[in-house]
Amino acid sequence: MKKIFAIISFACIILYILSCNNPASNQETNSSTDKELAEFINKIRAVDNHAHPNTIDPDDKGSDALPLDGLGAIELPARVRPESQTWLDASRALYGFKGDELNEKAMKDLEDIISNLMKQKDEGFPSWALDQANIEVMLANRITMGAGLAAPRFRWVSYVDALLFPLSTKAEAAVTPDHEKLFPLEDQLLKKYLADLNISKLPATLDEYLKQVVTATLEAQKKGGCIAIKFEAAYLRSLDFEKAEQQQASEVYAHYVNGGEPSHEKYKLLQDFIFYFIAREAGRLGMAVHIHSFPGAGNYFVAAGCDPLLLEPVFNDPDLRNTKFVLIHGGGTFAKHTSAMLWKPNVYADISLLTQLWTPDQLAVVLRDWLSQFPEKILFGTDAVAFGPALGWDMSAWIASTTGRQALTIALSGMIRDNEITLSRAKEIATMVLRTNAGNLYNLGLK
Ligand SMILES: [Zn+2]
Repeated sequence: MKKIFAIISFACIILYILSCNNPASNQETNSSTDKELAEFINKIRAVDNHAHPNTIDPDDKGSDALPLDGLGAIELPARVRPESQTWLDASRALYGFKGDELNEKAMKDLEDIISNLMKQKDEGFPSWALDQANIEVMLANRITMGAGLAAPRFRWVSYVDALLFPLSTKAEAAVTPDHEKLFPLEDQLLKKYLADLNISKLPATLDEYLKQVVTATLEAQKKGGCIAIKFEAAYLRSLDFEKAEQQQASEVYAHYVNGGEPSHEKYKLLQDFIFYFIAREAGRLGMAVHIHSFPGAGNYFVAAGCDPLLLEPVFNDPDLRNTKFVLIHGGGTFAKHTSAMLWKPNVYADISLLTQLWTPDQLAVVLRDWLSQFPEKILFGTDAVAFGPALGWDMSAWIASTTGRQALTIALSGMIRDNEITLSRAKEIATMVLRTNAGNLYNLGLK
């Protein structure tokens, strides 16, 4: 008997050695698996968690609460600069562009090709652009929606930072040259929100402000089709929102609502209180809370203030457990900290913008860390936005969709190769990231 076991064991060892010594056959299996996975991933009709599509109006006014072109010439990573190969690839894929480089003349030609197609497609142009990137639904982060951006292909994500700043922002704005340009835009947006509600003057008390302005605005946005609200607070202040007492916040509000400059400490306390209130209301209304978490953009951006770890007290607040939070741009270079925050039951992260700024290999490293732990919390996104007349959101959506799918393929292939998951589980995870995680989070009713 012992002898038979010895023979069987020996045979197993030989078979194992033979299989290890046959790298050619392993590689073949790997490459055919990779190919099958890549093809599968390219066919998934995606949900884009975060983007800034334009209407078909050439003078599209309602697009962005804090348009960054107002900041002047800012530093941009190489992959989104006009000379980047990615733009050339996109112009070829979308518009059959034939040239070898996007010089001034080529940009002009491309602009003509695009504007002709836009005229021809009219309100159908934005949906056509989604089809090119194989995106079924795009969450459009905009002040208002407009011509060509209709549901179900486009769903609205509003901006709510303006509600945090009912008092004079003069002192806050004086801190950096970027703040000087950005705070007046929030003042204008708050004025618009008040006008929408037919309110000509801010209410005298915080309690009235919360009811008549904050809740009323959020409810109107929800009624208008909004499925999530977005904070880009990191452009204006640190994300270190602390729980504040209503009494203290009310005193600050009442004291300065008719004028005067609150100290930074006092204003921060009021902003913090309003932030928690908005997050709670968003939970009540079933709207997710999107938070910009990425070290940029802007030449005076304070990178330390956008670290996802700063939001831990918010995520840990039992009163906010009905609110779903999404770390937009996944924290960027703070991706490891995002990984730590994914332990919270109500925290998600998207890969928008990373799909434009990073190479597929760079993004795959981060994705693999997140997907090996919390695959149901990761959302695909583009942050598609216009970089210039010929370099529109349509092209950046295509670039991000292509890069995102490549990165996903690399990350999941690696996990298959290391025997972490099977090919069929890899396909499941890819579908979750590109489509069903967002479908479930926002109840999109996808088929
Ligand atoms: Zn964005």
